Amino acid sequence: MLVLTSTIDQNIILNLEKTLIKQKAEFRRVKLQNYYFFVTAKPLSQKQLKKVLAISDCIIHHEINTPYQLASHVLKDYLQDNFFSEARFLGHPFLMIAGPCSIESYEQLEACLDLNQKLGIEYTRGGIVKPRTSPYSFQGLKNDALAIIEDCKDIQLVSEIMTIEQIEQFKDHVAIFQIGARNMQNFDLLKAVGKSNKPVIIKRHPSATIEEWLLSAEYVLLEGNPNVILCERGIRTFETSYRNTLDLNAIAYVKQVSHLPVLADPSHGTGIASLVGPLALASIAAGADGLLIETHPDSDMALSDADQAIDFAALTRLSDQIEQLLAMRTTYENSNHTK
Ligand code: PEP
Ligand code: MN
Repeated sequence: MLVLTSTIDQNIILNLEKTLIKQKAEFRRVKLQNYYFFVTAKPLSQKQLKKVLAISDCIIHHEINTPYQLASHVLKDYLQDNFFSEARFLGHPFLMIAGPCSIESYEQLEACLDLNQKLGIEYTRGGIVKPRTSPYSFQGLKNDALAIIEDCKDIQLVSEIMTIEQIEQFKDHVAIFQIGARNMQNFDLLKAVGKSNKPVIIKRHPSATIEEWLLSAEYVLLEGNPNVILCERGIRTFETSYRNTLDLNAIAYVKQVSHLPVLADPSHGTGIASLVGPLALASIAAGADGLLIETHPDSDMALSDADQAIDFAALTRLSDQIEQLLAMRTTYENSNHTK
């Protein structure tokens, strides 16, 4: 992969493109933040590289040995000021999202928003459309949900899109798009969301490897959207005691191999309300950059995922614990850096 600053002389870019074509190197050009990236499908040969680097001192070459390139940790130094760098929870760099699985009524969404505002949680989740395993299960309020969102003042909503058309239909109502686990490899949807500049959370499919997950992120990055956030939401294992197994390894591992922020979703990751708190805290210890949590004013009565929705008292207690743990994590990270 080759990197150039965006302030570079356009002639150098043209010259580079011509040289790559002449050298028969397959490549894709993408501008992310302040840089142009020339991603080559295969590593450049010594001969190709010599020709390319002779064009200008401004061209930086990185050999990346993973199938995902733009998602690699190598880009850490280049992509610092994206949407995510602004995310804060009570002063800590952390993306905290809480709210119902599905939007059910104005009263329900407004109650969640009120609580979030009280707790300092900037983003509220809530499904407009729902991907349900059974066609008989509640599928989301759709257009009626859009009208409810319009009535909730100052809401910053995180919501799933299941089709390309919904990008346009929901874009004014939604602050962060969510690509659900089931659509993680819907490549046309990933490409379309990559063309919008809206932040996008990509949830890991319960049977996807980390490499497959990062390649899904690569699809979005390659279209020029730098605002990609990953979300570990539990994988399918032999264990049947709970809905999914939240893969804490994945959080720590992805933090090492990628520059992308990683959220944990302990609600879908466990499927059991009483496990959400412990796993939320464990995710922070593993290095998660944020949390996605399902809550409901009348949690037993939720129209979707009632078993995993925590009530308002539990979210209030948990957000206090999260704040304390984040403070400890910052102290720990700072002392590790000074060693
Ligand atoms: C959700 O967030 O409500 C959801 C459907 O999640 P997932 O795609 O991870 O199953
Ligand atoms: Mn849900």
